[in-house]
Amino acid sequence: MNTPEQILKQYWGYDEFRPMQRDIIQAVIDGRDTLALLPTGGGKSLCYQVPILMRYGLCLVVSPLIALMQDQVARLNSLGLSAACIYSGMKNDEVKEALSKAVNGDYEFLYVSPERLQTRIFADYFENMEVGLIAVDEAHCISQWGHDFRPDYRKIAEIRQLSPKAPVIALTATATPHVQKDILQQLKMKQAAIFKQGFARDNIFMEVRYSENKPGDVMERLGNGSSIVYCRSRRQTEQLANYLGQHGQVAAAYHAGLTREQRDDAQAAWMKGNTPVMAATTAFGMGIDKADVRAVLHYDAPEHIEAYYQEAGRAGRDGNASVATLLFNRGDIKRLEESTELQYPREWYLRQVYQAVADYLQVPVTARPDRYFHFDLQEFCTRFKLEPIRALSALKILEREGLWTLTDSVYTPATVRFIAARHVLDGIQRTNARLGYLIVGLLRMYSGIFQYPAVIREFVVARQMGMKKEDVIRGLEALHAMEVVEYYRAAEGPRMLFHHYRVEAAQLSIDSAKISKLRKQHEERTAAMISFLENTHKCREQLVLEYFGEKAPEFCGHCDVCRSKSKPPRVTGLRALVLEVLQQPAGMTMAELVQAVPGNDAAAVTMHVRQLADDKLVKLVNGKIWLSAHYAE
Ligand code: ADP
Repeated sequence: MNTPEQILKQYWGYDEFRPMQRDIIQAVIDGRDTLALLPTGGGKSLCYQVPILMRYGLCLVVSPLIALMQDQVARLNSLGLSAACIYSGMKNDEVKEALSKAVNGDYEFLYVSPERLQTRIFADYFENMEVGLIAVDEAHCISQWGHDFRPDYRKIAEIRQLSPKAPVIALTATATPHVQKDILQQLKMKQAAIFKQGFARDNIFMEVRYSENKPGDVMERLGNGSSIVYCRSRRQTEQLANYLGQHGQVAAAYHAGLTREQRDDAQAAWMKGNTPVMAATTAFGMGIDKADVRAVLHYDAPEHIEAYYQEAGRAGRDGNASVATLLFNRGDIKRLEESTELQYPREWYLRQVYQAVADYLQVPVTARPDRYFHFDLQEFCTRFKLEPIRALSALKILEREGLWTLTDSVYTPATVRFIAARHVLDGIQRTNARLGYLIVGLLRMYSGIFQYPAVIREFVVARQMGMKKEDVIRGLEALHAMEVVEYYRAAEGPRMLFHHYRVEAAQLSIDSAKISKLRKQHEERTAAMISFLENTHKCREQLVLEYFGEKAPEFCGHCDVCRSKSKPPRVTGLRALVLEVLQQPAGMTMAELVQAVPGNDAAAVTMHVRQLADDKLVKLVNGKIWLSAHYAE
């Protein structure tokens, strides 16, 4: 049997595992439930992809972002591995086809978006799959204490019971100790192997800057390399990209309001380095695999430290020197202070939004659950005179309550299905030559169009039948109105999966105690962010690491606070003194070294040790510092 190393080489062409990957993979191969915390870009995917190629069966991967799943599937396919994904934009027959293939053992990997786990058909098929491993990507989404809670993740524990022998691997880049504990509990992980890679990123210079001239400050900080500037709104990304362009910096904007094609083009140009600067909303970055990003700037303060650190961590994944700059001013502080009120609206407002959704989607009180609808937030808010940010918060809270799932933007092709009986069709053919012609043509072109919706392209139909595309569309719309066919035009946009039986807004049960607990937690989180912004005396890395429950030294040497503290070395040649003390053949701890170096200046000694390590003159092994020349490999 192949070793993990051989598999890594054979499929991915890599020579060795990254720190911690190997241990994680071993735990999974041994059949243990595993929790892995690795920073963004740490190589989490391989932690479940390699083991399944050594174990038997299918790897079920739960992942929240459709675009990411599609990328992963394409990547695996290009490596000669068989993989598929199931998400909410797909038609039922496509889903069934993928599920039955999974039951047949045709896939090594099946990616599923969380709301799909809810559906009955998923559970029915899942029971019959040979599952070797369940991987939960972005596992913090399972915890309501995390920053991106998705209630559908809770289904994973139930799904697990249908395949009790398969171990679970939960992966995340950001989880506070509280959230880590919750992940273990919610996924019912027993005696889990837990791996945490330190969050410290020595090659990133972290700075936070008060700025009254953000565009100018951004401009000043952009070097030659690739950069991302995170903005809070779509409009801002465009304004900033324009401003930078006018000042000679090649930049593009990226946000969810662009079409898929525009986004793909912008991303491709940035990946190639043709457009070095991307002014983007947080829609950009997840799953983007670019190691040489030299600067990540935050044009506005993110809402919490989790988001900030995850985004900042996209800089310098190649290990080379990079910068993470956060710009803020009074406006940011005010926004953070007001955000709780905006994001946790009161109960009466939740009911109002619920009623508006039911009216918007025209869901009658008796409607059956689990139906998909297109959902355009902007149109919804305009029609019901709701303020978008607040309305979206209410939608999210009600989503947490399990009422519905809002999904990303997905493309759904046009479909047609015949629903009228044959004799009705015959009648139309006799009385309406134009529609009759269209009916005959469709029946000829798409077999099975009575049993299930056929995916069609109007221009193809038009070409084959010598018609104009507009006439085909008009004809289909007429047939739809006559209830002869069900015709849905191609669409792109977010969707809503309405889970429950609709009730009267007044009867809606709302867990107020839980909501006020979440409210409080949000307040704490924004307070942590505010004190991170206002802090001028404590090492930034220390603040962040402590937030994630890690121990951290008081001096990182690569943040603005440490830099401002580290005066130029007072003793000329302190570096030489450090080297001299380290001449002894055994390694020393930092404390021993500080004791031994005249002046006992811990901050300065630490800084020199870091620089010496960068210069490869000293090594840090097992908590001890060694002169490279003295450390026997
Ligand atoms: P994460 O999900 O942790 O952000 P990914 O799994 O997407 O990270 O991996 C980031 C990139 O690093 C991918 O291109 C992946 O192929 C690459 N990678 C992962 N492990 C290794 C390795 N051992 N050697 C070289 N490249 C690796």
